[in-house]
Amino acid sequence: MVEKNVRVRFAPSPTGGLHLGGVRTALFNYLFAKQHGGKFILRVEDTDQNRYVAGAERYIMDCLSWCGLNPDESPDAGGAYAPYRQSDRKEIYREYAEKLIASGNAYYAFDTSEDLEQLRKDTPNFQYNLLYRNGLKNSLTLPPDEVAQLIAAKMPYVIRIKVPADEKIGFNDMIRGQVTFESNQVDDKVLLKADGMPTYHLAVVVDDYLMKISHAFRGEEWLPSAPVHILLWEYLGWKNEMPQWAHLPLILKPDGNGKLSKRDGIRLGFPVYAMNWLDAKTGELALGFKELGFLPEAFINFLATLGWNDGTDQELFTLKELVEKFSIDRISKAGAKFDYEKAKWFNAEWIKRTDTINLLPQVKAILEKNGIVINNTEYLPSVITLIKDRCILMEDFYQQSAYFFQNPTQIDIAAIKPKWNAEKTHFFETFITKIKVENDLAPQAIETIFKTLAEELGIKAGDLMLPFRVMLVGGKFGPHVFDIASMLGIEATIARIKGTLKEL
Ligand code: GLU
Repeated sequence: MVEKNVRVRFAPSPTGGLHLGGVRTALFNYLFAKQHGGKFILRVEDTDQNRYVAGAERYIMDCLSWCGLNPDESPDAGGAYAPYRQSDRKEIYREYAEKLIASGNAYYAFDTSEDLEQLRKDTPNFQYNLLYRNGLKNSLTLPPDEVAQLIAAKMPYVIRIKVPADEKIGFNDMIRGQVTFESNQVDDKVLLKADGMPTYHLAVVVDDYLMKISHAFRGEEWLPSAPVHILLWEYLGWKNEMPQWAHLPLILKPDGNGKLSKRDGIRLGFPVYAMNWLDAKTGELALGFKELGFLPEAFINFLATLGWNDGTDQELFTLKELVEKFSIDRISKAGAKFDYEKAKWFNAEWIKRTDTINLLPQVKAILEKNGIVINNTEYLPSVITLIKDRCILMEDFYQQSAYFFQNPTQIDIAAIKPKWNAEKTHFFETFITKIKVENDLAPQAIETIFKTLAEELGIKAGDLMLPFRVMLVGGKFGPHVFDIASMLGIEATIARIKGTLKEL
């Protein structure tokens, strides 16, 4: 059933590279929005100035654009609910924090960070919550005139939510069903910080309300924050307009033990970020799927299957098909194990499925980067078509095709020498004389000449194919050998045979 007025948001904090879990959240938001003819919104949640990283916002937008998940509303694209960057909305939030104070659901807290640090040291498991709040320096414990005085004297304070005692806070998650929290387990989160900036908790609720967000997909790591958000929706009087929540299953380490982290990628040698991310502080470069040679179609397809399937054996989906087939019912509650081999499988499949014309610019760039000059624009597409079934990552195009453009840098003589004999030399010398006079360069024609001659000379063609391949390619790889010879052309084929015969 198509829902009306669907508005969803991807709300990353620009604190560094975009983890593939983040891209999956963006993807599921996008799929849901498009399926229901709704809007996909990018909102930048940058209220935590301590964690803010310059360049991360641009990077996130570039990642989305590489993946083809372009927001309908965003800091770049604008929209009816602009601005879409929370730091640009700073002035909006105080009013709501004050409203919560007025209704008795929030309070001023004047404790200094030193006070709190000391408390954390002295009191194991200290939380600012209903157990401790009455012994602390806040507007629940201080007389009203003292509170007014402190505020007038510009004493720094934060505003905290007052979580009620002994209540059950519940909601219906689209993936998990009914989820219930005990209010006694929830601490009095800060809503407005001393510098006037809202925290994530206040900002996310106010903005989801003001931006008329209908459904909120986010990672399971946000589930513990949900009770605070639910209370805020209720206290601000907006409960009926609260979005429907969907907390997406975690993406787990390959062995299933815990959440996949950036460190795992570095430790186990696979990418965790969508695109390369250079940490300016540490100088550490985290490799991205894009730069490692993944096609965005493959990356997206792979991510869609981390925690979702369509109920059939189908694994390969275009973005358009995903929009049609996506359904929340088929998102699993359990975490999804990350499997890099599977990611590569998707990429190989997508390289096969992608039209040569669409692979061309990237392959050309890869070859040029490796010093290959492409001057025949017709030749490269034919080469791509011939070898694309053998490439797993885009970079493989170099290794798999370099010999079409230049003599192999090395010939694996050792692969043929032990079984070499004078008959074979005679075969190849005769073969050269036969193909020299031919005009037909089709693979079939070369194959016929090759096999007929082998038969005439009483040598098994099978024993000659490997040497022929090594002569042309340099090693034991590549497509059908007669396809290679045909593509190289008679002149280059002859030159390479002669070159190798000299070595034998
Ligand atoms: N700003 C949060 C993040 O960094 C968003 C959580 C949410 O979607 O509510 O992921």
